[in-house]
Amino acid sequence: MSEVAETTATAQSEEIVRSQQPGELQNIQAAYRLTGKNYLKWSQLVRAVLKGKGKISHLMGTGPKTGDPRFEAWDEEDSMIMAWLWNSMIPEISDTCMFLATAKDIWDAIQQTYSKARDAAQVYEDAHEFLNFLLNELVDILEKESHAAKRSPETSSPSEKTANGPKNVQANGVKKEPLVTWVHKNFQGILTNETRCLRCETVTARDETFLDLSLDIEQNSSITSCLKNFSSTETLNAEDKFFCDKCCSLQEAQKRMKIKKAPHILVIHLKRFKYIEQLGRYKKLSYRVVFPLELKLSNTVEDADSEYSLFAVVVHVGSGPNHGHYVSLVKSHNHWLFFDDENVEMIDESAVQTFFGSAQEYSSNTDHGYILFYESLATSSKS
Ligand SMILES: [Zn+2]
Repeated sequence: MSEVAETTATAQSEEIVRSQQPGELQNIQAAYRLTGKNYLKWSQLVRAVLKGKGKISHLMGTGPKTGDPRFEAWDEEDSMIMAWLWNSMIPEISDTCMFLATAKDIWDAIQQTYSKARDAAQVYEDAHEFLNFLLNELVDILEKESHAAKRSPETSSPSEKTANGPKNVQANGVKKEPLVTWVHKNFQGILTNETRCLRCETVTARDETFLDLSLDIEQNSSITSCLKNFSSTETLNAEDKFFCDKCCSLQEAQKRMKIKKAPHILVIHLKRFKYIEQLGRYKKLSYRVVFPLELKLSNTVEDADSEYSLFAVVVHVGSGPNHGHYVSLVKSHNHWLFFDDENVEMIDESAVQTFFGSAQEYSSNTDHGYILFYESLATSSKS
């Protein structure tokens, strides 16, 4: 691992892991979670964050041993880091290392599985992974352009400076705010993750930004019910306790996710590819999930409903996760267009519902809505 790469990751981690209390580990943003194809980036980020917090011994196995008076506190911290690591992976990956006993075991197992693939050409077979890759690459490019423009101020136009606003002005010693690109302006929303310790009742709220929402799906459901489940209260207990900073120990807690700031364009990813442990592989869920043309978002922190209109759908065609094809529907100038490679045809709006999915497990229709794009109907942005 080169030192240069690590330094870059440290600088990056300050932007990705925002405002935090000393010692506290802020969750890694969804866009940087380990997906299996971003191991190098993920591992650098994890190392940089833990190194910055003086907790790298948990990955290196250099902590105190059993019997050492410091062991108990260190071991408790290790549990917190394990939970943090699991949180930094997509659930399909974290599920595979839930049975491991220490943070180092998790770190080693993940390295074994995913580091080998790091030099392989990145092939995106999944439209959702590709979307994440695309948006993050766009942000990287825009940030590089902006930094280059700042280094040679005479080349940047005055209007550009005004557009970026005073937020990016870097006063001496003051941490600069991350650049807000058009990707952020359009796609970024904020989730708030509230955890209530059941012993001391302290509510810990952690904000995390998102560019899309990944929803678990159920048979014969709708986007509204999937969103409701997404925001439902979950109890953390038994093996899954929460480290309460006030109690300084693991406690039972209640957790819920709410949308604090709804994005202008809401991208919803339906988790149709599910890892089935008994099968040892991914399976496509062909469930019928109704997605309306007009969507009311009610699980926001502000009680005001946000209204959205559907304007594009990425459809996965095929019965399994390893083979298939993507087509898309896009609304343009009030007409729905159907894109299938080089073929483009106009379709009736009512045809959108043929992509909801199947109410029976085996159906000849294998065309299922996979990623939905909704645009806010609010005329002006709220913030
Ligand atoms: Zn507590």
